[in-house]
Amino acid sequence: MSAGEAAATATPDRGGLDETTFAGQLRDWLAEHHPGRAPRDPGERLAFLRAWQATLTDHGWVAPGWPRRWGGMGLPLPLQAVYHREMAGARTPVPPTNAAGIVGPTLLMHGTDEQRRRWIRPLLRADELWCQGFSEPEAGSDLASLRTRATLHGDTYRVDGRKVWTSHAAIADRMLALVRTGPPGSGSRGITCLVIDMHAPGVRVSRLRDMTGGAHFAEVDLEAVEVPVTDRIGEPERGWEAARATLGHERSTSLAAAALRYQRVVRDLVELARRRGRTAGPADRDRLARAVTGARLLEWNGRRVLAQVLDGGTPGPLSSVNRLQHGQFEQSLHECAHALLGAEGMLDASDPRLDGDGAWVRGFLRTRASTIGAGTAEIQRSTIAEKVLGLPAEREDR
Ligand SMILES: Cc1cc2nc3c(=O)[nH]c(=O)nc-3n(C[C@H](O)[C@H](O)[C@H](O)COP(=O)(O)OP(=O)(O)OC[C@H]3O[C@@H](n4cnc5c(N)ncnc54)[C@H](O)[C@@H]3O)c2cc1C
Repeated sequence: MSAGEAAATATPDRGGLDETTFAGQLRDWLAEHHPGRAPRDPGERLAFLRAWQATLTDHGWVAPGWPRRWGGMGLPLPLQAVYHREMAGARTPVPPTNAAGIVGPTLLMHGTDEQRRRWIRPLLRADELWCQGFSEPEAGSDLASLRTRATLHGDTYRVDGRKVWTSHAAIADRMLALVRTGPPGSGSRGITCLVIDMHAPGVRVSRLRDMTGGAHFAEVDLEAVEVPVTDRIGEPERGWEAARATLGHERSTSLAAAALRYQRVVRDLVELARRRGRTAGPADRDRLARAVTGARLLEWNGRRVLAQVLDGGTPGPLSSVNRLQHGQFEQSLHECAHALLGAEGMLDASDPRLDGDGAWVRGFLRTRASTIGAGTAEIQRSTIAEKVLGLPAEREDR
């Protein structure tokens, strides 16, 4: 029996349960297994989050929308919504990286069975952490112009180049990378998708510090890095298809859980307003009402994308609507919290005098990037204009 099949037999089939029974089972399980709050120390925190991910996977409470064959729960949409709502309500820890929701669907769609058997379960358990190596110093929005080069020597690719803004690269074991195998200037048609071992000789990671004070992303230099041909995803020079799948999920299904979690964050925001006596003024009430309705809109848009994917489709251009809405919502929510904190919002997030535990200040700084990562707001608007509204294309190869 393969590892993938073994995972499926270990995952109970809960897809036929009604919502109340399902929620009850999940609550009972959480009452017994909830690990509490994640520690602040980065090293301890990572070990804690990995252990929690392994517990979820081993008990069949992970990847609610994925097929059971590959360790997911195979749930219909209404139960997926219950799953995310219960997890958010119980304040369960989040995964150590967002890779499972981004890389996982790409492996499921474009990987071979042999690759899925090797990579999916360690990815779900967070035994192996992944990062996404797409952006380069000269290729961000214009991703199709990327230059990291891979040349085939027998059964091995040799990779040379540089990736940048690679989230979680410093802790990752594998990178889903886009590389150029076609001639220079071959655009999206000359790109291949490889899985690079981050511990291989020739991989050098330099952390980049951002305005939150954290160093969550990095620059990655690749010098004569060897990648076996068996670690290529899909056919040579068809990497753009895998890239589209990855970006589509990054901009949509991976955000669906966050959309449901935001219902709880909005309740926390209303609580903050109450504590600070800021629920009576029309300007404050207007901001709070926008946060509540914004979270609802996010949820319904998230459901729309999940329904489309469950129906056998891909997130498609709808993912740009989702990403844009999500980024703008996250920013306005934290701007509202910042306004409620007033001068206190200028304190460092670790300052003990802050209302709450500094999460609002950290979130305010972090969400400045929400309209840049996974494609900027301008690029999402262009995609919506061209692919959803049918306006003339800016360029033909996007
Ligand atoms: C928090 C965060 C995490 C990230 N994580 C990763 C990761 O894990 N892996 C990864 O590969 N990348 C990652 N990125 C990189 C991200 O994908 C790029 O920053 C993004 O695609 C923009 O590319 P760029 O930074 O090169 O900006 P540029 O492409 O140089 O854009 C600069 C400005 O010009 C505008 N612009 C560019 N082209 C157009 C156009 N055609 N029309 C209108 N406006 C345009 C942009 O909107 C932007 O305002 C991350 C970024 C952030 C902020």
